[in-house]
Amino acid sequence: MTKTTILTVVGARPQFIKAAAVSRAIRASSDFSEIMVHTGQHFDEMMSDVFFRELEIGKPEVNLAIHGGTHGAMTGQMLAGIEQCLLERKPDWVLVYGDTNSTLAGALAAAKLHIPVVHVEAGLRSFNRRMPEEVNRVLTDHVSALLLSPTMTGVRNLEAEGITRGVHHVGDVMYDAMLHAQKRSREMSTILATLGLSDGGFALATVHRAENTDDPARLQAVMNAIVETAGGLPVVLPVHPRTRQAIARSGTQLGSIRTIDPVGYIDMVRLLDGAKVVLTDSGGLQKEAYFARRPCVTLRDETEWTETLEHGWNRLWTTPDWKPRSDITDYGTGQAAEVVLDAIRAHQG
Ligand code: UDP
Repeated sequence: MTKTTILTVVGARPQFIKAAAVSRAIRASSDFSEIMVHTGQHFDEMMSDVFFRELEIGKPEVNLAIHGGTHGAMTGQMLAGIEQCLLERKPDWVLVYGDTNSTLAGALAAAKLHIPVVHVEAGLRSFNRRMPEEVNRVLTDHVSALLLSPTMTGVRNLEAEGITRGVHHVGDVMYDAMLHAQKRSREMSTILATLGLSDGGFALATVHRAENTDDPARLQAVMNAIVETAGGLPVVLPVHPRTRQAIARSGTQLGSIRTIDPVGYIDMVRLLDGAKVVLTDSGGLQKEAYFARRPCVTLRDETEWTETLEHGWNRLWTTPDWKPRSDITDYGTGQAAEVVLDAIRAHQG
């Protein structure tokens, strides 16, 4: 039997984590094969290599090594590089994740060559077009053949934009990834001992969105809010390279926040498991906080993951308290990667 070839485009940290779940399902299947293309958007050991190693994704077959520069220049170079790969490899599908420049470049290159695009994490909206991620996700959704949404909110957002064909609610592949990592992290990770932290005795923070890092006054306000919200708990903040540069450039005062280098996923999941509260502007971490049943404060003025707010596990830093808590059913059962493959199969048939 000839296998269906999926060319997957990844480039940034959260995409490696999501791809780990789907790649595992592809490897376990008998009817799919995968070509992994890394654009190079995130490139060093702790933002890239560690995930491929720890999550057993295998080395990408192609690495375009494109990073840095303006959004336009970066996306343009990726577009040309991915197009070349597609012309050479002729896949049946192109699979993209989330909302980065790599997502948009992969989707656009494929759509122009009439290769169907499957977008995992389709339909999410912040309704803030000043976010580069929002532009990437809207455009990607509008050129995708198969739009796989982790939430029903995503399905409704697409409907509001007139997109109903090829739309499926599949659950969240990040939930699959986290369940897989959780058990291993409890057995393998020594991060709490290394940092001298105890379970339930600290707050975990991350900050990396351009809207928080680009303006020094905003960055300082975010750091102040972290210290204040943690209310005396020690705060650990694995620092994204963009944020490290912004802190150095602007002389931001971190107060009692303890910064560490970015950590691999196994350590990150252990930190999350051990944290009393999570303070973040990361899309992924807001949901992982829920998966670990830790309350989260989102350091943004809006979120795409509105169900985390409605079910009381998350609140925006602009609101004083969490709503009453209940479980979220949207994210699936940890088998979303299988549902992704089933959706592709159904669409082919
Ligand atoms: N993450 C990680 N190590 C870190 C910080 C984050 O493994 O030092 C993980 C985090 O648990 C989540 C993902 O990276 O799974 C989130 O990525 P990021 O915040 O960069 O992007 P976003 O989710 O906002 O798109």
